[in-house]
Amino acid sequence: MSYSIKLTKTEETRLVGIDFDTLPFGKTFSDHMFMADYIDGEWTNLEIKPFGNFSIHPACLALHYGQSIFEGMKASVDINGNPLLLRPEMHARRLNASARRMCMPDFPEDLFIQALHQLVDLDRGWIPPSKGSALYIRPYMFANDEFIGVQPGQTYKMIIFTGPVGPYYPKPVRLLVEEKYVRAVEGGVGEAKTAGNYAASLLPAKLAKQKGYDQVVWMDAHEFKYVQEVGTMNLFFVIDGKVVTPKPTGAILKGITRDGFMTILKDKGIPAEERDISIDEIVEAHKAGKLEEIFGAGTAAVVAHVADITYRDLTMDLPPIEDRKIGPMLKVEIDGLRAGTIEDTRGWIVPVKSPVNA
Ligand SMILES: *Cc1c(COP(=O)(O)O)cnc(C)c1O
Repeated sequence: MSYSIKLTKTEETRLVGIDFDTLPFGKTFSDHMFMADYIDGEWTNLEIKPFGNFSIHPACLALHYGQSIFEGMKASVDINGNPLLLRPEMHARRLNASARRMCMPDFPEDLFIQALHQLVDLDRGWIPPSKGSALYIRPYMFANDEFIGVQPGQTYKMIIFTGPVGPYYPKPVRLLVEEKYVRAVEGGVGEAKTAGNYAASLLPAKLAKQKGYDQVVWMDAHEFKYVQEVGTMNLFFVIDGKVVTPKPTGAILKGITRDGFMTILKDKGIPAEERDISIDEIVEAHKAGKLEEIFGAGTAAVVAHVADITYRDLTMDLPPIEDRKIGPMLKVEIDGLRAGTIEDTRGWIVPVKSPVNA
């Protein structure tokens, strides 16, 4: 089904004067945004308009009780300059999985996809061409009722805006195994990309930074025995040539990068499994000289290599990045798919269509 999205173009692009080579992350926004309202049980007021402020009521439900969810994805251009998306339908589905957990309405997947195509097509000039750079896309939905009773909202706003981001070359990160605070627990909201999860992570992350670490490793909330995630990324280990990542059992955000990595590894015949991974197993592997790699996986960085990991008073150093095979290979694969230099054999790449009704 094709939806009619009202289009108001900006009178003057802000693109002139943007230097794609010196982009700070998350501070530059493209010309247009998509907005929609959920009123009386349906999505309405579909429109793409110039990026800008909008006003909300002081009692706006989401600001008080946190009914707010988001996605994070990227558009890139291939070597011929054609804009493309990577697995957009996975993001549409995950947005709705988050919505269901937070007692929010579904956003139609086909409308999500259509809005993405129209918005990215319109602002295609904002997609940085250099390899590893991308147009970051931020879809989000929040309860917009003017009401301060604790109950599910009846009205919602869905917004998608975008902004160019440079290649992300983080230096290898230093991790601290967190043994006081938890990110998520089975039965909680750890599987939802919901605002409060990130608010809750800020204090432990700040305390870890004060001690000289970049990120915390989140542990299971019952025993602090099994590793779960790192910062806002999924966690991968390479132990004795085998790749392992924690099995998502309700407290782990199911990353799309993570899912892609497991598929690529399987296709390449590299042993990879999802299972419970105890911190003791990591310590043992390190002692035996078999802890080859640790990395985080997520849309922003794709792969974030780990320099060292500290558990209580033991700091475990990992081999130099030059000696690692799996993490760097996975990053090359994803960047290559996004640049069109590696053939997409899985139907993951979706070329951005020109709008049907603009
Ligand atoms: C978004 C996110 C990830 C990574 O998901 P991707 O789909 O790969 O970007 C992992 N963990 C948390 C907590 C996240 O919010």
